[in-house]
Amino acid sequence: MTDAVLVVNAGSTSLKFGAYATTGGTEPPLLCRGMVDSMAGDPHFVAKTPDGKPVDAHEWGEGHTIDHRTALEFIVGWLEQHEANIKVVAAGHRVVLGGTRFDAPVLITPEVLDYLEGLCAMEPSHQAFNVRGARALAQAFPGLPQVASFDTSFHRTMPEVAQIYALPKALRDTGVRHWGYHGISYDYISRQVPQYAPGARRVIAAHLGGGASVCAMLDGRSVETSMAFAGLTGLPMATRSGDVPADVIFYLQRSGFSPDALEKQLYGNAGLLGLSGASGDMRRLQDSADADAVLAVRYFVYALTKFIGAYVAVLGGLDALVFTAGIGENSAPVRAATCAALGFLGLALDTAANSANGPRISTPDSKVGVFVIPTNEELMIAQHTLGLVRPA
Ligand code: ADP
Repeated sequence: MTDAVLVVNAGSTSLKFGAYATTGGTEPPLLCRGMVDSMAGDPHFVAKTPDGKPVDAHEWGEGHTIDHRTALEFIVGWLEQHEANIKVVAAGHRVVLGGTRFDAPVLITPEVLDYLEGLCAMEPSHQAFNVRGARALAQAFPGLPQVASFDTSFHRTMPEVAQIYALPKALRDTGVRHWGYHGISYDYISRQVPQYAPGARRVIAAHLGGGASVCAMLDGRSVETSMAFAGLTGLPMATRSGDVPADVIFYLQRSGFSPDALEKQLYGNAGLLGLSGASGDMRRLQDSADADAVLAVRYFVYALTKFIGAYVAVLGGLDALVFTAGIGENSAPVRAATCAALGFLGLALDTAANSANGPRISTPDSKVGVFVIPTNEELMIAQHTLGLVRPA
């Protein structure tokens, strides 16, 4: 029997999971991962081995809908019956927003979930579903220790000036704050950096996936980050706009766009998709000769360069630059264009290493070490969970 931590990333109609053995010290081994998808119609389950080979699948049938509890009961049942050696002894949930209260992972109680639910209005895309997943698991398996791991926690070390906006107190008192996201990924990266760049104190990491952000870290702690309040702003993303000035939003509202319509446009139809008019997928765009696709990639690199430049100033210099997540780990052209723009820092790219996706992609004499470090948010959540739950 292998005791396992179940890592859960609950969305509105899908639920991703990974099962990690509680053995293995700081590196708990992945046993399997999978997801339940399309819960609102034609739900299906798939499980894969750690190296990505499908091991099982299940369909509830077209026209069916299932809720988070049914999906989680199925996953735990499947793990304990089909993977006969697994016993789920704890769960770790990705929860995007921990508010001002949580600057670290926390053991989940009903009161903690009530607090987190109270933050849903600030973050419309994930928070409500993350909380729903945790509640559903608590209902299905009362007594199972559960931990919430937050995307915002890692950034609570930012200085006060980096966490506020220049708004009157009455508006700031509503809870508006520069939260910062992708903190689970940056936490993981900050722990990896010493292995790649020993002694690096001033580090900038760029998490470039479907969502994208940049984080400035000093001695492994976040001091500034680009994704601000609810996952929309900072860098342009697959379908999210990135930074658009507030006065543009006011103008568009006066021009007849409702707040709901604008929110949908800015979250779902903007960014790389909006600029290219074709796709939010970087792989597709960087291989395209279409002028709008080329412009979308140029805008992405331009915005990334601008943030990195600003963060070099925040840090007072730069020892190491890290690229991570889907684009960061795989797009040699995006990394090359960004590094070329940052050449003024004395940063020199090793083009062969960059084409091979690293891990070190700067030349030995580069004044800044540049690295490709794969992120692993799921493993980070498993580690956070094991840090708080000590199974017998
Ligand atoms: P998510 O945030 O959804 O988890 P990922 O971290 O998987 O997303 O990143 C998805 C992005 O990575 C997509 O834009 C995809 O095109 C890009 N990507 C993946 N592989 C490559 C590649 N070989 N070259 C360029 N971009 C890539």
